Amino acid sequence: MAKLYFNYAAMNAGKSTTLLQASFNYRERGMETVEFTAEIDNRAAPGAISSRIGLQRNAEMFCTDTNLYEVINNRLTAHPIDCVFLDEAQFLSKSQVLQLARIADELGIPVICYGLRTDFRGELFEGSAQLLALADDIRELKTICHCGRKATMNLRIDETGAAVTSGETIEIGGDDRYTALCRKHFFEAFSKEN
Ligand SMILES: [Zn+2]
Repeated sequence: MAKLYFNYAAMNAGKSTTLLQASFNYRERGMETVEFTAEIDNRAAPGAISSRIGLQRNAEMFCTDTNLYEVINNRLTAHPIDCVFLDEAQFLSKSQVLQLARIADELGIPVICYGLRTDFRGELFEGSAQLLALADDIRELKTICHCGRKATMNLRIDETGAAVTSGETIEIGGDDRYTALCRKHFFEAFSKEN
């Protein structure tokens, strides 16, 4: 039976790199893949997944009203699909995660999602919460805090490196706007600003 996978991590743990490697492994064996990324993330070229170590691949974009089940189901009429990869899974809506579950359960295609678990306040993203609830296989990709402990949290920082503790849940950025920290150092930095 095809599974729904959720690989989560803090910022800069190499999620996109891991996705691109896994997708390459499928295609190297002559299998067909479809890649999705969030329309909201414009760090790479529009419609591309890119990793910090220089890998890049074109991807379909999803926004809040994209019906992912319909996109894949329609695509299947033209050619087979062996695996669906989705980056920035934290931006999925609850119903889009249900659509991904149907791709696995009804169309028999594995769906492998990569995303952040929590936002800059340390709270679950909607897409991540639903994936944690529904995924068959949940794995953590690990990265480390400056202290050497596992980094699980994403601190939003301003130009001076100070913690940002209020604002919109979604604010796109990379190394310059976020830093991955262990829980202890996240709350130390966060509470300093409150
Ligand atoms: Zn730490």
